[in-house]
Amino acid sequence: MSDLFRAIPSMSAVLEALAAPPEALAAPCALLRASVPQPLLRECVERFLNARRDDIRAGRIASPGELALDALLPGIVAYARKAARPHLRRVLNATGVVIHTNLGRSPLAEEAAKAAYEAALHYSNLEFDLETGGRGSRHSHVDALIRRLTGAEGALAVNNNAAAVLLVLDSLCKDREVVVSRGELVEIGGSFRIPEVMAKSGCILREAGATNRTRLADYSAAITDETAALMKVHTSNFRIIGFTESVPRAELAALAHERGLLCIEDLGSGALLPLPGADEPTAARVVAAGVDLICFSGDKLLGGPQAGIIAGRADLVERIKTNPLARALRIDKLTLAALEATLRLCLDPELAKTRLPVQAMLRTDEKTLARRAARLAGLLRRELPELSVTVLPGVSRAGGGAMPEQDLPTRLVRLRPPRTGPDALRAALLESDPPLVCRVEDDALCLDPRTLENGEFPLVASALKQALARVT
Ligand SMILES: *Cc1c(COP(=O)(O)O)cnc(C)c1O
Repeated sequence: MSDLFRAIPSMSAVLEALAAPPEALAAPCALLRASVPQPLLRECVERFLNARRDDIRAGRIASPGELALDALLPGIVAYARKAARPHLRRVLNATGVVIHTNLGRSPLAEEAAKAAYEAALHYSNLEFDLETGGRGSRHSHVDALIRRLTGAEGALAVNNNAAAVLLVLDSLCKDREVVVSRGELVEIGGSFRIPEVMAKSGCILREAGATNRTRLADYSAAITDETAALMKVHTSNFRIIGFTESVPRAELAALAHERGLLCIEDLGSGALLPLPGADEPTAARVVAAGVDLICFSGDKLLGGPQAGIIAGRADLVERIKTNPLARALRIDKLTLAALEATLRLCLDPELAKTRLPVQAMLRTDEKTLARRAARLAGLLRRELPELSVTVLPGVSRAGGGAMPEQDLPTRLVRLRPPRTGPDALRAALLESDPPLVCRVEDDALCLDPRTLENGEFPLVASALKQALARVT
């Protein structure tokens, strides 16, 4: 056994071999050297060699030849690549949920990603006025675009929509009452609850109406001398159906103004372009209805980076900008660059529909999806003949609190693996590189082509191959 222990190569021998590898390992070793910091690489090698010592003690290694540097090197490279890869990684989204909060919501348009890349690598006029050579405002880069796209007089972008709601309420309604319908006291997930955000902002929630029905008279009755605003909140992730009633926003705004109050609306997803078949109001329609201030997310239906957009009356936006909290919640320069590029695409709706991935995915028609599903199925049948592959109609979802409960018809590629269940395969796919996230329905693994790019189909096949090798 001591011969075996002595046969284990030294750390320095391994590091030297990784620096000057045999031809067959040249490419993966170059990748390792470029992407893995030296201390992490050393740690990986150490753990790998310790595992071989355990193998010797357990009798899993019989001859010194198995421990030769040449024999171990491919394993070391594979181990280090896996163990030292970045924690935040690309995944393949085959769930069909377009705005998937857990998977990073909106993939950016290429234009937006490039803008962020430029802003990241170089200095910029972030807060520098190129006309005067003096100090400029970080808000100047997107406010005209937001005003133009929403029809509002004033605009401001902050860290995310939760921050926008908090900032609006803190700036305009602190220590006063805000009336919200009981049907709109939503929890968005990740602990964003309207009543709690209100409490944090220091305003007092006044509930109006009942869960399923709120009338104008209910709002009216809830107004007191302490009231600052009437607020509407998008019921992003649920729908109350049956015996229901809510107040059209134009009537709510009229009531607010009659009583000298503000009308505020948290649009949640906030569509800038009308979506076919969806009853999401566009931001411009909400502003035109007389709502004083709206806010919505940058990375839901808008299809941009994480951001919160506030638009509305210029005097209110000015008050919000001077709130010290605005500094704490301010938008980052990379986000700002990506947001500006996204908004510029939105100026031309035809361009936005194809260039913004979220818009394009939501608009992909059934015929196209059927064709793409057939292509993916064909590829998988060729590459993985042991899988049973069928294509059946199914539904995708918008996600991100947009269009809740609305089915988007799609075609699902359904897979049944041999010798194991779909749940085991789904779990194994998370360990593939890149990981593949999908759902199991009716005892089959389902891949929805809506949220996969055509260029990702070979990666799907490769992820499945890796996973099948692990489970069967
Ligand atoms: C998503 C959502 C939020 C939170 O937006 P983030 O951008 O995730 O911070 C707030 N309100 C509503 C109605 C939402 O749908």
